[in-house]
Amino acid sequence: SPILMWFRRDLRLSDHPALSAASKSGRPVIPIFILDPLARSLGAAPKFRLGLGVDRLANRLKAQGSRLILRSGDARDVIEQLIKETGAGTVYWSRLYDPDSVARDTGIKATLKARGIEAQSYGGHLMFEPWTVQTKTDGYYKVFTPFWKAVKQREVESPLPAPSRLAAPDVWPDSEALSDWHLGVAMNRAADILRGHARVGEDAALARLGQFIEESVGRYAERRDIPGVDGTSGLSENLSLGEISPHRCWHAGLRARHEGKPGAETFLKELVWREFAYHLMHHTPRILTANWREEWEAFPWETDPGHPHAVAWKQARTGIEFVDAAMREMYVTGRMHNRGRMIVASFLTKHLMCHWKTGMAWFQDCLTDWDPASNAMGWQWAAGSGPDASPYFRVFNPATQLDKFDRDRSYVRRWIAEGQGDPPEDALAYFDAIPRRWALSHDDGYPSPIVALDDGRKLALAAYQSRGF
Ligand code: FAD
Repeated sequence: SPILMWFRRDLRLSDHPALSAASKSGRPVIPIFILDPLARSLGAAPKFRLGLGVDRLANRLKAQGSRLILRSGDARDVIEQLIKETGAGTVYWSRLYDPDSVARDTGIKATLKARGIEAQSYGGHLMFEPWTVQTKTDGYYKVFTPFWKAVKQREVESPLPAPSRLAAPDVWPDSEALSDWHLGVAMNRAADILRGHARVGEDAALARLGQFIEESVGRYAERRDIPGVDGTSGLSENLSLGEISPHRCWHAGLRARHEGKPGAETFLKELVWREFAYHLMHHTPRILTANWREEWEAFPWETDPGHPHAVAWKQARTGIEFVDAAMREMYVTGRMHNRGRMIVASFLTKHLMCHWKTGMAWFQDCLTDWDPASNAMGWQWAAGSGPDASPYFRVFNPATQLDKFDRDRSYVRRWIAEGQGDPPEDALAYFDAIPRRWALSHDDGYPSPIVALDDGRKLALAAYQSRGF
């Protein structure tokens, strides 16, 4: 009987343990993708990007003589319906780790098992399953460096080749049309701009990894902090949707280290930050919804996402150049340089004292590389409420950060049109991408700072100290 191969955030054919197992069985394989309530609830940019990825996967499968069957609805109902239609006796998928996916998948597994249907989940999204990394006292890691030390010598499986052939069923079930799902509808005017910045699909991700290792990893350690240069891999959007496996990136990094490329070790470490985020989410899922350090619940955050300060931050009109440049980069490209993420998050949670959840939710709506674990860890790190967090009293000063990391001002010039006689295309694209209701134009002139940096810093520190933190 056929195997249903349920694709979720694993939109690739190579180094895909579940797909390889399905192919090896010699049985017909029916690849499926389900637009279920969880997929439907994604933010605007990640949902749009998901649609691009699903389309690319469907084309790749077609080129192999297979298909991707699209269905929408509750995942359990859809799977049961497909089992009825196709006589499938087995369902495979790659494991996910966020609590909502875990709850859904556990429920489906139990239902299928009760009906005598085999349901098998595989690894592939992570190199180190969160429950396999344990401290000497059988606990989980709360600090990155010991986590890194615990995993860095581990053997990571070598990438598997894509299956050369997937046996087709005698009759294919019907598929819905991707275009009917309107996954980009919430993007409004930004969709086309974002599409131009996305690097979609497995082939593009593999090519990028090759190029990054060849040209950039050697100088990664010193250039990864400079947002004005293309010094990082840019693979997060692909890793987020599983268009490339972390294993493949790891092995490429290991080879580069072996060849003596100096930045390779730092690259390997960054890949492990992603694993660490998943480790934390698995062991403390509340990192997604509440202050990881409970004492932070008492902090006087501004919680209204519609507060004028939060709105100015979202609209990239704070008058603080580094902050606005980074926010605009995100709006136009769906991505933001890591240095920018740290600065805008520190500014929102410290200078403006807005709750990190306001920032996390906005990122969740705007990032094409949105990842539940990395986003939550990043925000709680920046706010000071997370494990192994940046201490609250360490307030990034966006002005001195600019002098240090954008010395030639190429980053702010690329993203802030106001004040430039002949602004670059990307800077103007921001005004084309934003919703019309924001009623902003580059002729408005660049705003004055919404807070004096020194005042914002002092207020935040006073609030911090008055609570006895
Ligand atoms: P590279 O520098 O090339 O690094 C290689 C890979 O390592 C990345 O693709 C990523 O998978 C992983 N990585 C690197 N840095 C981190 C990190 N700090 N935490 C976790 N993984 C890391 N990353 C996301 O993928 N999705 C998010 O939603 C996300 N939200 C963030 C929010 C905040 C407030 C902060 C401070 C960071 C966030 N990050 C997030 C982490 C990081 O900024 C991005 O992973 C990185 O900028 C992606 O660029 P790159 O692929 O060129 O990274």
